[in-house]
Amino acid sequence: MGKRPMKKGNRFVSLRVKWAFGTAIGSMIIFLVLALTLVSAFTTDLLRQERHSLQTSMTTVARHIDDSFQNESQFTSRQVGQSLYEKPDSHDKDGSYYHHSMVQSLANSNLTIKVYDRQGRPVFATGKTQAGLKRQSGRSIQQTRGKFHKIYVGYQRLRSKQTGQTLGYLQVENHLTSYYQHVQRIHLVCGLLMILVIIVTGLMGYFLSYILLRPLNDIHDTVVAVRNDPVKNIRVPEMHRHDELSELGQMVNEMLDQMQRYIEQQGQFVSDVSHELRTPITIIQGHVEMLDRWGKKDPKLLDSSIKAVLQETSRMNSLVQEMLDLSRAEEVEVQFKGSECVVNDVVTHVYNDYKMVHPDFMFMLDNDLKNKIKVPVYHDHLEQILIILCDNAVKYSTKRKEIHITLSRNLNSVEIGVQDFGEGIGPEDAKRVFDRFYRVDKARSRKKGGNGLGLAIAKRLVEGYHGTISLESSLGYGSLFRVTLPIVDEPKKKGKQN
Ligand code: ADP
Repeated sequence: MGKRPMKKGNRFVSLRVKWAFGTAIGSMIIFLVLALTLVSAFTTDLLRQERHSLQTSMTTVARHIDDSFQNESQFTSRQVGQSLYEKPDSHDKDGSYYHHSMVQSLANSNLTIKVYDRQGRPVFATGKTQAGLKRQSGRSIQQTRGKFHKIYVGYQRLRSKQTGQTLGYLQVENHLTSYYQHVQRIHLVCGLLMILVIIVTGLMGYFLSYILLRPLNDIHDTVVAVRNDPVKNIRVPEMHRHDELSELGQMVNEMLDQMQRYIEQQGQFVSDVSHELRTPITIIQGHVEMLDRWGKKDPKLLDSSIKAVLQETSRMNSLVQEMLDLSRAEEVEVQFKGSECVVNDVVTHVYNDYKMVHPDFMFMLDNDLKNKIKVPVYHDHLEQILIILCDNAVKYSTKRKEIHITLSRNLNSVEIGVQDFGEGIGPEDAKRVFDRFYRVDKARSRKKGGNGLGLAIAKRLVEGYHGTISLESSLGYGSLFRVTLPIVDEPKKKGKQN
C-alpha cells in the first residue's frame, strides 16, 4: 500500500494493528473472568479440605488423649508423648505405625499439634506453633494471621472421660503450606496461559484482519491511481466475495464511472458550445471585416451587414439562454421539489396562446380529463416543455398546418400528446433528437432559428420530475411527442366520494 497522507499530528495506525489489539484485549478480559471464577472456586474448595483435615486431626488426637487419660486428672509431657507415639495394638495385623490415623495426622507436615496442661504450660508439641494458646471451653477453629500468611488454628479443651475434669488444652495449627503452594502454582499457570492467549489471539486477529482487509489495498491503489490521473481507466478488480468490502469496491467503481462520465460530458459540452459559437462569431467577423474594407461608404452593404450582425447576436443570445435553461433543467429535482400545477390549466393556456399567435395553423385540443389534475411540476416548466414541442410542431410543419394536442389519464399518470403532420423524423434521427445540439438538418434548422437544445431541455425537465418523453414519427408524415407525468396524490376528502 502506498504512503497515506495524514493530517499533521495524526499518527497512522493500521486497522490490522487496531484489530489485533482489540482481539487480544477482548480475549484477555474473557480469560481473566473465566480464570478468576475457576481459581476462586478451586481455592475455596482447597481451603475447605484443609479445614476438614485440621478438624479430623483434632478429633483423632483429642479422642486418643481423652481415652488414654480416662481416670487421670493430670498428665506430663512424657505421658502425652508416649501415649501419642505408642506402638499399635496387638490386633493391628501389619504392625505399621502409619496405619494409625493419628500418627498420620502427626506426620502431616502442614499440621503442628501442641498439648498444654491444665495450667496452660506446653507439655507436648510436634513443631513450632505460630499462634498462642486460647483457652476455649469447647472446640473452635479460627483463621488468623501467621508468620507469613493466614493460617487455621483449632483449639479444644481436653478432659477426663471419667471425671469430666479439664486435663489440658489441645492446639492444632494448619499452616496451609501446601494450599499456598497450590495457589502459587495456579497463579503461575494462569499468568503463563494468559500471556499465551494474548499472543495467540493477537496474532490470529492480525492475520485474520490481513486476509479480510486485503481488498482495501486494491481499493486504495485504485483511488490513488485515479486521483493522480482522473481519466485513467483503472478499476477495483473483481473480489469474488460477497461482503461489505466487495460492495464498497463495486460502489467505488460505479462512482469512478460516473465521475469519468461527468468529465467526458463536461469536455464534450465545452467543445459543443465552442463549436456552436464559432459559426455566429465567424459570420459577425466576416461582416465587420467586409464593412471595414468596403462598406463604410456603401449604405446598401452597411445596412445588410448590420442586419446580419444583429441576427447573429440575437442567435447567440438565444443560444446562451438555452444553455442556461439546460443547465438549470438538471437541477429541478432539488430546486423545485414540492412544486405542483394543474395540468389542464397549463395545457389550455398554451393551446389558446398558440391558436392566437399562429392563425394560419389549425390547433385542436382533445381533453379527456373530467376533473382538474395536479402534476408535481413547477408551472413555468410545464409551460416551457409544451412551448418547445408546439414550437417544433409549428417550425417543422410545411404543407399540412394542423396540430393536435391531447390530454388523457392513465392509472397514476397523465399523458400530453403534441402531434403535427409535418416533415417527420427518420428512425435513425429519432433516436438522437433528444441529444444536446442534435439537429436532423443542421442548415435548415439553423435557418429556422433552432440550436438543437429544445428537446434536450424538455427531456431533462420531464425526467427531473420523474416523467417520460417519447417520440413516434414517420418521415414525411409527421411526428407525435408524448409526455407522461405522475399525478400528485390527493388526500381523500371526508364525506366526498368520487
Ligand atoms: P431545434 O432548436 O433545432 O428545433 P430541438 O432540440 O427542438 O432543436 O430539435 C432537434 C431536432 O429535431 C430539430 O433540429 C429537428 O430536426 C428535429 N425535430 C424536432 N421536432 C420536430 C418535429 N416536430 N418535426 C420534425 N422534426 C423535428
